[in-house]
Amino acid sequence: MKAMVLEEQKPIKEKPLKLKDVPKPVPREKQVLIRIRACGICRTDLHIVEGELPPVKLPLIPGHQVVGVVEETGEHVGSLRRGDRVGVAWLYWTCGSCEFCRRGLENLCERALFTGYSVDGGYAEYIAVPEEYAFPLPGGYSDEEVAPLLCGGVIGYRAFKLAELPEEGVLGLFGFGSAAHIVLQIAKYFGHKVYVFTRSPERQELARRLGAEWAGHPKEESPVKLDSAIVFAPAGWVAVEALKNLKKGGRLVLAEIYMTPIEHLEYRLLYYERSIKTVANFTRKDAVELLSVAPKAGVKTSVEVFKLSEANEALLKLKTRGLRASGVLKVV
Ligand SMILES: [Zn+2]
Ligand SMILES: [Zn+2]
Repeated sequence: MKAMVLEEQKPIKEKPLKLKDVPKPVPREKQVLIRIRACGICRTDLHIVEGELPPVKLPLIPGHQVVGVVEETGEHVGSLRRGDRVGVAWLYWTCGSCEFCRRGLENLCERALFTGYSVDGGYAEYIAVPEEYAFPLPGGYSDEEVAPLLCGGVIGYRAFKLAELPEEGVLGLFGFGSAAHIVLQIAKYFGHKVYVFTRSPERQELARRLGAEWAGHPKEESPVKLDSAIVFAPAGWVAVEALKNLKKGGRLVLAEIYMTPIEHLEYRLLYYERSIKTVANFTRKDAVELLSVAPKAGVKTSVEVFKLSEANEALLKLKTRGLRASGVLKVV
């Protein structure tokens, strides 16, 4: 099968992903083989490719927003059938027996495997995945449109839950990429007001079109104090700006897997029982809930489609903020 393979972590402008012919995976017991149709790109892929995240497996096929159709089932597969349209996200496997799995926090599993990081991912024509981690996808979305729900959507949804907004709360979103534009629509569906902070005037405009009460620069003071804020930017200084706008008792959620140091964090910004929570991965429950809520909330994604062989160019565009929407590789 064809795949975009990372052999050595390097800056994306050096095109570290190479189009290769590699063996097609064989589904093992309780696994399904998926013929991939589309795979979203994500800033985490960029952190893996460029080396901000340490290498776990090399060579590696990145990609963790995989949309495809079950082509073959391994032994003892119960619920999925050939032809089912499914999605695979970041969580590839968890042990089910460590203390975190037993507490319902499989996102923190000590032995978890991650798609496109510790095992090969979706920048390819096929993937084999444990049946329980392949999620049936809602209708009403094309393969490309549904892909961003599998990372930005699911991580965004977990961040939204951890934000613990009160009824008719006021939510600030800092950074307005793939995840934030999905969270905005979900937060509105649940009756909250959303304020968006992004440097890009085009994204501020998009946020207003999607129903934000207000959109401005992250250095601007929010017109109203926020009950909770979610930071989707990988920049520590943005977290400090977000804290400045929180009400007493407010909650700051940091949704990124990687962030530059948070400097000059003054204690007075945290005082009055403000709290900071980070988001690490997600649980299967989060994924199932999000895939059910998104169509009900009328969540629309907007995507910019690339060919599989253009993965380097797509990631470079993501890095240099040239993407107008969520980037997706069309495989078939
Ligand atoms: Zn991602
Ligand atoms: Zn575990």
